Amino acid sequence: MSTGDPVDRLRGLRGAIEHHSYRYYVLDDPEVSDAEYDALMRELTSLEAEHPELVTPDSPTQRVGASPSSLFAAVPHPSPMWSLDNAFDFEELVAWGKRVEKVLGGVADYWCELKVDGAAANLTYADGRLAVAATRGDGRTGEDITVNVKTIPSVPLRLRSDDPPALVEVRGEIYMPPKAFAELNRGLEAEGERVFANPRNAAAGSLRQKDPKVTASRSLALLVHGAGRWDGGPRFVRHSEQMQELTRLGFRVMAETRLATDLEAVYDFCRYWEAHRHDLGFEVDGVVVKVDQIAQRDELGYTSKSPRWAIAYKFPPEEKTTRLVDIKTHVGRTGAVTPFAQLEAVVLSGGTVTQATLHNEDEIARKDIRIGDWVLVRRAGDVIPEVIAPVVSRRTGEERAFRMPEDCPVCGTPLVRPEGEKVRRCPNELCPSRGVEALFHFAGRGAMDIEGLGERTIFELWERGLVRDPGDVYSLTRDQLLSLPLFADKKADLVLSSVEASKDRGLARVLVGLGIRHVGPPTAWDLTAAFGSIDAIAGASEESLSAVEGVGPVLAASIRGWFDNPRNAEIVEKLKAAGVRLAEERLEATGPLAGKTFVLTGSLPNLTRDEAARLVTDAGGTVTSSVSKKTDYVVVGENPGSKLARAEALAIPVLDEAGLRELTEG
Ligand code: NAD
Repeated sequence: MSTGDPVDRLRGLRGAIEHHSYRYYVLDDPEVSDAEYDALMRELTSLEAEHPELVTPDSPTQRVGASPSSLFAAVPHPSPMWSLDNAFDFEELVAWGKRVEKVLGGVADYWCELKVDGAAANLTYADGRLAVAATRGDGRTGEDITVNVKTIPSVPLRLRSDDPPALVEVRGEIYMPPKAFAELNRGLEAEGERVFANPRNAAAGSLRQKDPKVTASRSLALLVHGAGRWDGGPRFVRHSEQMQELTRLGFRVMAETRLATDLEAVYDFCRYWEAHRHDLGFEVDGVVVKVDQIAQRDELGYTSKSPRWAIAYKFPPEEKTTRLVDIKTHVGRTGAVTPFAQLEAVVLSGGTVTQATLHNEDEIARKDIRIGDWVLVRRAGDVIPEVIAPVVSRRTGEERAFRMPEDCPVCGTPLVRPEGEKVRRCPNELCPSRGVEALFHFAGRGAMDIEGLGERTIFELWERGLVRDPGDVYSLTRDQLLSLPLFADKKADLVLSSVEASKDRGLARVLVGLGIRHVGPPTAWDLTAAFGSIDAIAGASEESLSAVEGVGPVLAASIRGWFDNPRNAEIVEKLKAAGVRLAEERLEATGPLAGKTFVLTGSLPNLTRDEAARLVTDAGGTVTSSVSKKTDYVVVGENPGSKLARAEALAIPVLDEAGLRELTEG
């Protein structure tokens, strides 16, 4: 809500919005996130609603985009291009639907599509040939980017029709797939060039190049979602029919759509795609809901900048700018010291974010992130929040460069940075931070899966001197657990029963849990398959370790080094004494897969890696990590790696999940 003189506030808001529009539309280099820009726009809209006498035709609320830049020739669009009104929650969407139905005096069919986060383009085809391609500009006039757009493979230069319409304006988004975006930024960084903040800006920037060869090198694609003027050809009753015709004419038309007959179904579509927005090969920032029938659209008409027959339902933002208050460091279980940002709280993807990763000190230097900077922060889905870049134009001169500590921030031991490594490490094996992290890893899902042993609980246990290594977990008592804050009977019982159950997870999971450097699940399976027991592994020489499929000399040395450390030998003794399963019985003699070797690759529809491996081993088979002539079967899921290609090259039978189940059932 605004206070003070509305005229001043209005002037301030318009000035700020015009500044940000220029940076976004003309420079492709925004200073604030879309969510922050949208908030300014909303404030201006509501202020103007309170004071309609202050609305002027040049207010940003009355205009589409920004005037085209002078870098390109200006081209008028045959028919105007519009912006979209936004709904920031479902209530706003329903309110829009109610308004639509009131005007129409009845219900409408709603065509739901994804809102592609790219750069809007208008492609005019005259007699079937691409005549002009333009940016949206201010909606009436755009920039002529025809030569650049012609380099995009998914843009047809000619329509697939013997009898094309005399003139048709095809509208869509030109976008950069996230993978291509990451690659582009890596390349720009390597050349010391300015990187793009997000794929949308990268797409817009790549389109607005003076040299079409640059555009051609940028992996852009077009997704079509509408049409403007359409002279000649069929008369369309519905938007969805028009989209079918555009598909027939050779365009890649948005496929993730639904014709919803009520707002309930619109809601389901929005919720579904909000949860699956990262499953696509392009970025989306919402859902566009459009009245499908053209006659109804005509009845609803337009405001000064948007159609009344459509609305953009915006997903909660994943990027925002905030202040980086400080940079702290964290010491992991291997001693790696990693810097992270402490932020002024921001809400991203529906959750509050106060910390974000900064990866390592080189990354901070490369991005030139300083303490006190305004930074762009991103949290996409479940991914850890990340600082993308500082907003250099908002610096005041008060910002400070960050220096990595020379000594461990937890135990004070001087840090080491081995040659060729990106991280400094605390070499002290007894560093409390390393110890707590090692225990947290041991209790984690991928290892012993001990419920109730979270980082906080482990820290409390450590503080009281009750645990120092994974072996100590098995001597925890009920009374000790009950002495911890927030521990009642139920939670203590949960931990104790989960500790008990973990004894039977098997050797491979123990090996993962012990945190031997470079030993992840595939190596743990290989070692288990080759040696069968922890004693056999502990007694193996480096030579016999490296003779195992998938274990190279670096790994062999790391494994040998781990078992040679007397502290670790003690851990193994404690695990043994507690009755943890440290050897696997060979079931070759009995199981249907006796003597058979399997490799797993890709994600299976219903089974996790662990579950699939368990199926194989329970049936007497062996799972290894790399495909060789000795492999009997390769089990393949979605997105398989090079292992599938290797299996095919060696003519090894390939199974899917169902095939694996069939075999294991004998
Ligand atoms: P908009 O981009 O949110 O919506 C309109 C556009 O959506 C259309 O022009 C069209 O090109 C596109 N679109 C994508 N998928 C579509 C589909 N399936 N059907 C129809 N259209 C589809 O609105 P706008 O008026 O262009 O600009 C506002 C947007 O730009 C907001 O997201 C705003 O946050 C952002 N912006 C950000 C800054 C900044 O500084 N960060 C500055 C200006 C604008």
